[in-house]
Amino acid sequence: MDPWMRSAAVIAVLAGCAPEPTSSDTGTEPEVVVDGMLTTTTWHTRSDQDGEIDVPIAVGDDTTSLLVSLSTVQERPILLQLIDPDGEVVLDERDWRGDEKLTDAFDVLRKTNALNWPVRRTDEPLRAGTWHAIWASEHQEGGRNPDDSVDLVVMTKDDPDPTQGTITVRLVWADGVELGAGHEAAVQAAVQTWQREWTAYGITVDATFHTSDMDPTLPFTANGDAEVEAIAAEVADPGDVVVFLGDTMIYKPGVFGTGPNTPGTPYPGNYHFVAVALDMFVEPSGTISTDLSRLLTETLSHETAHFMGVPHVVETDWARYDALTDTPRCTTEGTCETQLGRNLMFPWSQCKPTCPVRTLTPDQLGVLHRYVGMR
Ligand SMILES: [Zn+2]
Repeated sequence: MDPWMRSAAVIAVLAGCAPEPTSSDTGTEPEVVVDGMLTTTTWHTRSDQDGEIDVPIAVGDDTTSLLVSLSTVQERPILLQLIDPDGEVVLDERDWRGDEKLTDAFDVLRKTNALNWPVRRTDEPLRAGTWHAIWASEHQEGGRNPDDSVDLVVMTKDDPDPTQGTITVRLVWADGVELGAGHEAAVQAAVQTWQREWTAYGITVDATFHTSDMDPTLPFTANGDAEVEAIAAEVADPGDVVVFLGDTMIYKPGVFGTGPNTPGTPYPGNYHFVAVALDMFVEPSGTISTDLSRLLTETLSHETAHFMGVPHVVETDWARYDALTDTPRCTTEGTCETQLGRNLMFPWSQCKPTCPVRTLTPDQLGVLHRYVGMR
């Protein structure tokens, strides 16, 4: 792609004069909401003739993180490149096809995707100017989709102290789940433990509870849902994490908790969720064991950490790893359990015979603190 052409297209978008229409629905003017250190800009556009979407991101002198999130209608968004104001390619999808995971932005997963940048403590801080995130609407079998409908969210954070922060978590009971025996006490105890543990990392977990008429079998976990977006819009502000508390997960039986991409796509959207199935933890009588109470804390914090951009330390093929330097590499289940089993982002819980307290490394905390929703 010719960079000059890209700049020209960006100026057109910023100035609000739409490019040459390719269909009757060409896009909308950006809407900007400023809330403390977070600026959220939303608009609607379409992919170009090559199936690409050039997203301009205005970065100010004090901006410390950016997040760009896309939701498409026909095919699935994948990040091709992130380009700084000097035209330097900071991130290139072709460099991330190996065994290290930095972000799900390079994967064709769902009709929604997001990049939070920077990710690591070692990534260069942002520089002021207009950045560009070049995305494509991509078929899973390859090939791109011109003229796809795209909803865009760009968030920027001006954080004066990136070592301290608050993440706001909206806990939403699915319909009547709060009335289940022992549910409220179990979740409140687990959240208190989570808050205590993350306070030690300089992170305040600001948790609020909400009721809803969401289906308690959490059917949205497979493909997202407009009801998720509607509830999130009601209870959450941009940057907040929304955690649905259900009884079960009808499409993921036996799973403790789940979320969408790493990072998740934030407000507003059909995939703005973390989901937890309480029947996996709380007995029908309302009791919960010490181990399962610990596991509930870990499920809430593990899934929220994914939503904030932290990948698994290792995947269960024992051959793919996070892109962080302070989590060791291992190549067998046994060595991985020994070396990484007590890390919060190990892919499963290690309760042998009892569940240990699982921790985060300084590099993982660096990812959490760079998330735009951490303020
Ligand atoms: Zn996980």
